[in-house]
Amino acid sequence: MSATATAVQPPKVRQTRMLINNEWCDAASGKTFPTVNPATGDVIAQVAEADAEDVNRAVKAARTAFDAGKWAKTTASKRGYLLNKLADLIEANKEELAALESLDNGKPYRDAIAADLPLTVACYRYYAGWADKIHGKTIPINGPYFCYTRHEPVGVAGQIIPWNFPLLMQAWKLGPALACGCTTVLKVAEQTPLSALRVGELIVEAGFPPGVVNILPGYGPTAGAALARHMDVDKVAFTGSTEVGHLIMKASAESNLKRVTLELGGKSPNIVFADADMDQAIEGAHFALFFNQGQCCCAGSRLYVEERCYDEFVAKSVERAKKRKVGDPFDASVEQGPQVDEDQFKKVMSYIEAGKKEGAKMLTGGGRVGSKGYFVEPTVFADVQDNMKIAQEEIFGPVMSIIKFKDTADVIKRANSNMYGLAAAVWTKDISKAHAIANGVRAGTVWVNCYDVFDAAAPFGGFKRSGIGRELGEYGLQAYTEVKTVTVKL
Ligand code: NAP
Ligand code: MG
Repeated sequence: MSATATAVQPPKVRQTRMLINNEWCDAASGKTFPTVNPATGDVIAQVAEADAEDVNRAVKAARTAFDAGKWAKTTASKRGYLLNKLADLIEANKEELAALESLDNGKPYRDAIAADLPLTVACYRYYAGWADKIHGKTIPINGPYFCYTRHEPVGVAGQIIPWNFPLLMQAWKLGPALACGCTTVLKVAEQTPLSALRVGELIVEAGFPPGVVNILPGYGPTAGAALARHMDVDKVAFTGSTEVGHLIMKASAESNLKRVTLELGGKSPNIVFADADMDQAIEGAHFALFFNQGQCCCAGSRLYVEERCYDEFVAKSVERAKKRKVGDPFDASVEQGPQVDEDQFKKVMSYIEAGKKEGAKMLTGGGRVGSKGYFVEPTVFADVQDNMKIAQEEIFGPVMSIIKFKDTADVIKRANSNMYGLAAAVWTKDISKAHAIANGVRAGTVWVNCYDVFDAAAPFGGFKRSGIGRELGEYGLQAYTEVKTVTVKL
């Protein structure tokens, strides 16, 4: 672990209560839960623990705000203005928010300030721009009629987010919902509630009307489940595990058929051909897997390498992983912090054991770093086979699995033989191979000679069991509007 001086001081925690109707309140039960610093295992603060009764209160506030037209009838340009104002406030407080994110989640501060914060601000600005550009069509139907469509807000949106990119996931959910005129109840992950609550304060400061945004910290099986089955919620947007994604759909089916969008897990193939720029591909594959402690839904976690360059690629990737600096997230030279909590730490360690047991060759890592916190050594397995657990299941940790392939047809077939379809990438100088992969792999995003390039304007989401629907871009608006057809006799 690093002994270098700490570059940034951990921030003060200002808000630990829940936001309902623009008021900060305790849980109806009075209960709280601890949020933990994963770098030390110490409790940072006690946070109000929302349960079904709080979900009822928050949905009532959102319903009232929606039905009374407080938000939908706020002019579209004013909605855009408020979203821009929120973006400005987040930007003005970016160091504090990045530090909170780092403290609660464990990600390096330098990543939070360089990636999470600018992407969060850009997402709010992007959807601020859409607010007054969401409109329908006029349609030339047969007969003496004037036919047009209106894109109306879907209503009250229940939004449930994970812990790997707390601020960014909040923006991906709130940005499009608010631009479209929906009101929202956001359930944040129990591991990382702090940054979302601070943004809640900025939402109130920006001047959003009461009830438009409600924020509940709490647990999934209680607060999350209550939101997913609530009869007054019109739409639920969920990001997290595929397992819980199934539960969200079931809750919708068993309640009011609320609209469902899901952004779930992945086991994304990252394909390296021998004709690629090797140094770029090695660094790109390292980033694709290890970024954010390996806790990315789109991590390049099935690394397929052409047999002609396999040995060289493996040797250099191991060398790079050995150099990866693990330690205090507030140390500016650190590349990798702890896993988010003890559960995730244990899960990652159990996959490392499974890899060893099934006969993959562990060439570096495999252990814990230090004696406190949830740090895992950057780990590389070679000679991984498609049927091994580490090649099939989402590990969500710093564990690279390198698999050998022969040719384009072989690798496309194998890339597609997995239940997920979130992302993929290809590294090659041959344009035909690049397009063969881009067209042949069933995934919502394909990166060519790059990885993890995100932009608020580019849609993101999954094929197959990686989810339903798209977030970001113009497509991201579809989840938050209902199309109404109006036909007028002339
Ligand atoms: P998770 O359980 O799916 O958590 C995601 C969100 O859903 C959290 O807010 C969670 O609340 C909530 N939730 C849990 N059970 C729920 C239920 N029955 N009804 C409604 N909401 C519910 O994910 P996790 O346990 O944190 O992580 C497990 C695995 O999921 C990871 O190892 C990874 O493979 C995957 N994952 C994927 C993503 C992604 O970006 N796609 C993000 C995180 C995790 P709590 O706060 O109580 O957990
Ligand atoms: Mg925490």
